[in-house]
Amino acid sequence: SKSAGRNCFTIYDEAMSAELEARNTLEGDLRDAIARCQLEVHYQPFVDALSGARRGFEALVRWRHPTRGLIPPDQFISLAEETGLIVPLGEFVLRRACADAAGWPSGLAVAVNLSPIQFKEARLFEVICAALADSGLQPQRLEIEITESVLLERGGENHAFMQRLKQLGVELALDDFGTGYSSLSYLTAFPFDKIKIDKSFIRNLTQQPRSSAIISSIVTLARGLDMSVTAEGVETREEYERLKALGVNFAQGYLFGRPQPIERILFDAPAKPSR
Ligand code: C2E
Ligand code: CA
Ligand code: CA
Ligand code: CA
Repeated sequence: SKSAGRNCFTIYDEAMSAELEARNTLEGDLRDAIARCQLEVHYQPFVDALSGARRGFEALVRWRHPTRGLIPPDQFISLAEETGLIVPLGEFVLRRACADAAGWPSGLAVAVNLSPIQFKEARLFEVICAALADSGLQPQRLEIEITESVLLERGGENHAFMQRLKQLGVELALDDFGTGYSSLSYLTAFPFDKIKIDKSFIRNLTQQPRSSAIISSIVTLARGLDMSVTAEGVETREEYERLKALGVNFAQGYLFGRPQPIERILFDAPAKPSR
């Protein structure tokens, strides 16, 4: 009967429903956050490895929760992906990033992360075009970062989509390289401009000769394919020096700056007259 079944599963049910409730609350909160503009885009610089000059910023989303404070993306991106909220969230970040970058010195690019879920939306191309048109940002200053999973699923359709972005002039970066299932054949088959080596390879770079060997082969491979290489998660000068010697083109990490709200970023500009 119904009640016997309930007894058997009471504990399980309670644990389940508590988890489900927390999740539903978070989902509802996230929905509100998007509607009420509680999401913020922070920016982390990346530099030309040789000169150390800033070349642009990666846009990284944060959630300014009314009671829980600033929530990092690790705590809500997967929920957003599961619920489909990543679509409006991603559009918000893209539009915000393009609008902000349009006000920066013209040598600086902006990199935006796109979720594989967004790739399933037929509208994505129009959304990107609209974000560029409305902000006036040149397509050449927009970089789209995607992970390997986009290449595995719906490879053919996504390949065609990426070609359209290339024709528009947008740059394409393969994010978190080395962490997934990517075989090198993906690199040759898709039109990437840039490979971002995952920070896990940088972390033990100065202790592990193997990491150096891996990075060095990625650099060689990328050169052969006419792609550039970014090392992310660079925290120490030692790591930076090593990466420079290994020939990476760009570097990003706390050594050069943490992600910050736009108003905290200082641009080289004519000095303001003092009062
Ligand atoms: P990601 O795209 O690999 O972004 C780099 C992450 O590494 C960021 O974490 C950044 O703050 C962190 N990081 C940068 N430099 C260093 C360093 O020197 N050391 C260490 N330990 N970490 C460093 P964050 O901002 O927490 O973002 C986490 C992930 O959330 C991102 O990883 C990205 O996958 C996702 N994400 C962030 N914003 C968006 C977005 O707008 N859309 C989508 N789809 N995903 C996003
Ligand atoms: Ca670029
Ligand atoms: Ca990224
Ligand atoms: Ca990454």
